[in-house]
Amino acid sequence: MNCWHCGSELIWGGDHDIEDSEDYDMVTNLSCHNCGAYVEVYRAITSEKKQKEIWEDAKEPSISPDASWHDDALDRVDPKKLES
Ligand SMILES: [Zn+2]
Repeated sequence: MNCWHCGSELIWGGDHDIEDSEDYDMVTNLSCHNCGAYVEVYRAITSEKKQKEIWEDAKEPSISPDASWHDDALDRVDPKKLES
């Protein structure tokens, strides 16, 4: 994922669970080594089935051809958990 301001690749800082929100369950922070921008990405709460559909959609090359980050996201998911 690239910096909104300068276009450089953002550096992943970490993921944190959110427990006091009804809308989001995780926040990821990233920063830009080039211009110093700081980015927080809040993940909307979805069912596991819906989350799987989101990832399936994201795999479509026509939607996001440069989504190299997508493979990283899949690696963090336990496939067995998604099957149930
Ligand atoms: Zn930047």
